[in-house]
Amino acid sequence: METRTFEEWMARKEHKVDERQIDMFYDKAHIAVELVNEYDPDLLSRVSTIANLASGAYGLYNSGEANKELPPDVKRWLIYRGVKEDQIGRVPQLILKKWGVDPKQIEIGDTIHVNVRRILSQSKNDIDAVLQIGSTIVHEATHEKEREFTGTSSETGPKIAEQKFMQWASQNMRRITGKFVGKPRKNADYYERHSL
Ligand SMILES: [Zn+2]
Repeated sequence: METRTFEEWMARKEHKVDERQIDMFYDKAHIAVELVNEYDPDLLSRVSTIANLASGAYGLYNSGEANKELPPDVKRWLIYRGVKEDQIGRVPQLILKKWGVDPKQIEIGDTIHVNVRRILSQSKNDIDAVLQIGSTIVHEATHEKEREFTGTSSETGPKIAEQKFMQWASQNMRRITGKFVGKPRKNADYYERHSL
């Protein structure tokens, strides 16, 4: 039906990532998320949460946290096929498609983590910190994308993706530096509304 397609399109277009955790650690983290969305509007379309990483690496994607919303009949069918109920979210989109699940019925809500404190402690200034956070988001989101669409992921794709993002950033530096001047915050509102 025509209207439904439009609604789906709107839902996808208005997809927002819950980035409150990293915003709490750094009031300019939202600029990094904005930049990633400008660089590649699709990259965070399956990511529902950018969480803080308290220690260790710069970032993390753990497929054990992968999450999917599926219609009940699809869930029942997957369980019938032998997938454990608490493992359903981890079945990559690729496999679900192979098994005949319509991608439109799959709502992916994956999580990636960024170690904001570590990046802040090692960056020279706000622009440097924001770009490091941005490239970490690109790196982890590329792991997420590769795993959903190919079933696996290595360091190669994410590292190349990071380099491309930094190249893009250096070509758009004037516009990027403009974002650091007196821009109002805009994330909190959305989530308060959303949780009603
Ligand atoms: Zn990696």
